[in-house]
Amino acid sequence: MTATATPEASAATRHPDVRNYIGGEFVDAPGRTHVDVTNPATGEVISRVPLSGAGDVDRAADAARQALPGWAATPIKERVQVFYRYKALLEKNIGELAALVTEENGKIRSEAEAEVLKSAELCEFAVSLPQIIPGEVLEVSRGVECRVERYPVGVVASIAPFNFPNMVPNWTIPNAIALGNCMILKPSEQVPLSAGRIAELLREAGLPDGVFNVVHGGQETVEAICDNPFIEAVSFVGSTHVAKIVYRRASQNLKRALALGGAKNHLIVMPDAEPDMTSSNVVASMSGCAGQRCMAASVLMAVGATDHIIERMAGIVRAMVPGVHLGPVISRAAKERIERYITEAEEAGAKVLVDGRGYVVPGKEGGYYVGPTLIDFVTPDMRIAQEEIFGPVMVIVRAKDVDEALTVQKRSPYGNAAAVFTESGGVARYVMEKASAGMVGVNVGVPVPREPFGFGGWNESKFGAGDITGRGSIEFWTKAKKMTTKWNKEAGVNWMS
Ligand code: NAD
Repeated sequence: MTATATPEASAATRHPDVRNYIGGEFVDAPGRTHVDVTNPATGEVISRVPLSGAGDVDRAADAARQALPGWAATPIKERVQVFYRYKALLEKNIGELAALVTEENGKIRSEAEAEVLKSAELCEFAVSLPQIIPGEVLEVSRGVECRVERYPVGVVASIAPFNFPNMVPNWTIPNAIALGNCMILKPSEQVPLSAGRIAELLREAGLPDGVFNVVHGGQETVEAICDNPFIEAVSFVGSTHVAKIVYRRASQNLKRALALGGAKNHLIVMPDAEPDMTSSNVVASMSGCAGQRCMAASVLMAVGATDHIIERMAGIVRAMVPGVHLGPVISRAAKERIERYITEAEEAGAKVLVDGRGYVVPGKEGGYYVGPTLIDFVTPDMRIAQEEIFGPVMVIVRAKDVDEALTVQKRSPYGNAAAVFTESGGVARYVMEKASAGMVGVNVGVPVPREPFGFGGWNESKFGAGDITGRGSIEFWTKAKKMTTKWNKEAGVNWMS
């Protein structure tokens, strides 16, 4: 990412300069520095994005505050109509939206399409909210009734990472807005283009101006969001380091905060695991989206006699072609960081079974490709076994039994996902109970829970209560009001009187 001094549009890029979206209009961030947006598959600069400041966040918060009373007072049955139409627009425009994701993020076309389809699926939960959130009512004493009703929190913010430019914003947009909130989205400055199309499609779907706003930028923009007095809740998805900063700063300013962080996901492979299914699932998990998924398999805990499965995996990985089966990583810095991890592990005595370092895709020499990489005989104390790599790299740690494998998993500071591959129900149940992770799979390499179940990890993979999607998000995006009423005076005097 390169900072450029002038705010004027650059004629040389494929896309015009990215603009903020405030109160239903695309607007400049006056006087702010712009940075380059790069296509990671080619290294080509495709646009520039402003690094907005507190003034821009204030303007977006003001627009959201103006829209809030009208939107919050709109019955939920009406509010969700927007998301029926928005879902249809996502599906209608999937080709163009996926192409944009591929261009700014680098992931291959089928992965980009799957991402947009997931965004459409997220709308299904949002439009079902009227069926899910009717208040609870109970006669708690003779003639005395308690009921719970849910109200929007108010103006809320959603801060997103680079790895899913379309889907992660849509983890929060449909639910938060259907529940009556007005939102400011702060996309990753590395992938800002999809957010503009999301704004246009929401407008086309009939969302009133000001209900959804986009403010682009980086650290300073996020800090301004955490400090703005009119923003009531902040959701964040990104690295653990920044999740902690955002969670602390937003909470310090007495806002609700939910901050999802990084991950180091362990897949435990038992000797009785079905070899074909296991090897293909594990490889798909480590290489999908070039390993840039917070649910990606990162450490394979190979329990006992599993060489036959590892050989199959190595065969699949060797046949994968970067540029065809997997895209590049997000930046030159990411490529260099990932390759350093591999070299360091090799120097520490690990055996590189399949080496993705130095990969160049013909015709895309400027792209940031790392080939899928398998490293065996990694020990749990090596940095590569402990830290998030966020690239198509799988390390194999040998374990004598399932307890040894679980000990390594539980020692990780993270706790997003874990999985076990086995034909034994008993072992599967044991790992499900004992693993220290919020999302656990059996014979599933990427155990993402689908709605109504919520997405969210444990430990340093998530700070705050609730989940970012599904039922778990309802509490975060609403305030519950408890109402106690007594109309029946014949009920006489009781404890409520
Ligand atoms: P990141 O933490 O660098 O950036 C995330 C957001 O924070 C961006 O919008 C960025 O502009 C902003 N930001 C960056 N540095 C900041 C700072 N110092 N102060 C305030 N804001 C700052 O993450 P990324 O590199 O964009 O995304 C990859 C990370 O996201 C990985 O760690 C991955 O595991 C994680 N992730 C987690 C989940 C999950 O559900 N747990 C999902 C997707 C990605």
